[in-house]
Amino acid sequence: MKIPKEYFRALLWLPATFVSGYTLYLILTDGFSLLTFVCIVAIAFGFQFAFVVLPDLIWRGIPELPRCEDGICEYKDYEFTRTSEAGWAYRCPCGNLYSKRGLRFYRIDPPKNLIPYQVWKPFRGWRPDSTRT
Ligand SMILES: [Zn+2]
Repeated sequence: MKIPKEYFRALLWLPATFVSGYTLYLILTDGFSLLTFVCIVAIAFGFQFAFVVLPDLIWRGIPELPRCEDGICEYKDYEFTRTSEAGWAYRCPCGNLYSKRGLRFYRIDPPKNLIPYQVWKPFRGWRPDSTRT
C-alpha cells in the first residue's frame, strides 16, 4: 500500500497542535516535563490517525482509487469528468472509464455496463473484485 502525499502534507498541522497545546500547558502549570511533551505529541499523532487516516482506511481507500486495469495509471492520473458515453466517470489516460460506488471500483463498458474490477478491503488494500464473472 502506497501512502499518498496528502498524508505528509496533513502532518504539517502537527507542529501547530503541539505549539498551541504546549502553550496551554505552560499557562496552566507554569512548568515543563518530558512526560507532558511526549503526551502532547502522542495526542497530536493520535488525532491525525483517528480523524484522517483511519476513516480512509475503512471507508475510502488509500489511495482513493486503485491502479487502472492496464496497470499504468495511479489514482492521481484519473480525471473525474462528465463523459458523453457514460455520464460522470473517472477517466484514466489510457482512455478507460471507471466508476466508484461505495468501496467498489468498476470499469465502465459504454454505455452503462459496470464491470466489477477492484474492491477496497479495509486495512488490506485494493483487491480484485471476486464478484467478477
Ligand atoms: Zn490507465
